[in-house]
Amino acid sequence: MLSEFDIIRRYFTRPVKRALLGVGDDCALVAPEPGTVLAVSTDMLVEGRHFLAGADAVELGHKALAVNLSDLAAMGAAPRYATLALALPEADAAWLAQFSQGFFRLADAFGVELIGGDTTRGPRNISITVIGTVPPEQALRRDGAKAGDEVWLSGASGDAALALAHLDGRIRIADAALAHCLARLHTPVPCVALGLRLRGIATSAIDVSDGLVADLGHIAERSGVEVELRYAALPRSRALRACADARLAEECLLAGGDDYELAFTASPDASKRLEALAAELGLALTRIGSVSAGDPGRVSVYDAAGNIMQIARKGFDHFN
Ligand code: ADP
Ligand code: MG
Repeated sequence: MLSEFDIIRRYFTRPVKRALLGVGDDCALVAPEPGTVLAVSTDMLVEGRHFLAGADAVELGHKALAVNLSDLAAMGAAPRYATLALALPEADAAWLAQFSQGFFRLADAFGVELIGGDTTRGPRNISITVIGTVPPEQALRRDGAKAGDEVWLSGASGDAALALAHLDGRIRIADAALAHCLARLHTPVPCVALGLRLRGIATSAIDVSDGLVADLGHIAERSGVEVELRYAALPRSRALRACADARLAEECLLAGGDDYELAFTASPDASKRLEALAAELGLALTRIGSVSAGDPGRVSVYDAAGNIMQIARKGFDHFN
């Protein structure tokens, strides 16, 4: 039988390079680089809410960290450290080996050190706190969007939601498109490099976790501006373009969630730089709308004819 301390030692203790002290003491010790502040964020994944019982443990280890790194990316912060609080129904060695493999593979890819956590028995629950660093004046906050800015989106939204619709039996997606959408749902890749390069360019940014319109609503609200989205301008993956159900496609694009792309605003003066950046990073950056003084806190979605399709005000609410 694995004890709590066996679990920590065997699966979650690795030598640290950057931290002064990692797993094993009462606290970890870290120091930010001179000229930077710490960016700190926590995201929790709850079984039955964010993932299904029996979900692949390698993918869970990846996704639990990925959704957290996505928040650092959206702040323009460089990932540095993570802590991991785990509640597990039992000490399952195979599950732990897989989970830690998925976790550390992504952690290594982004230079993140696991420096502590907590381990307890309970309904399966994964709570990760990430710590990054950013020069304070360059942090990509939600409250900096200005009237006249353009709204940009990395990659494309909707694919993770399309995968869910397939798993729920609402639609059938074929082979290659299905593999693409399932990867987007289960092993999202946080836009860390993009977030770092948006320092000094984006006036505001957010990662798209709850749905494009809902998340842009946070920028609209915090910046005291209206966001006007052009539905026809939204980037669409091949899988989404192949979706014959127009209503489902709209739902996935605008409200799907779990995209972990970056939505951000920037002055029109920055568009050349952003196009060059997209080419350099090998990713799509698409202008999807604009910011106006209009009706602060509102997100309006316009169709190709210029008619309003949808008006939204607030972000996704887990309690309503
Ligand atoms: P405490 O009693 O002070 O809370 P614990 O016995 O819970 O300490 O943890 C011992 C050490 O192991 C601490 O340094 C803690 O940060 C670390 N730790 C516990 N669980 C995890 C985990 N799942 N991942 C990484 N580190 C962990
Ligand atoms: Mg503890």
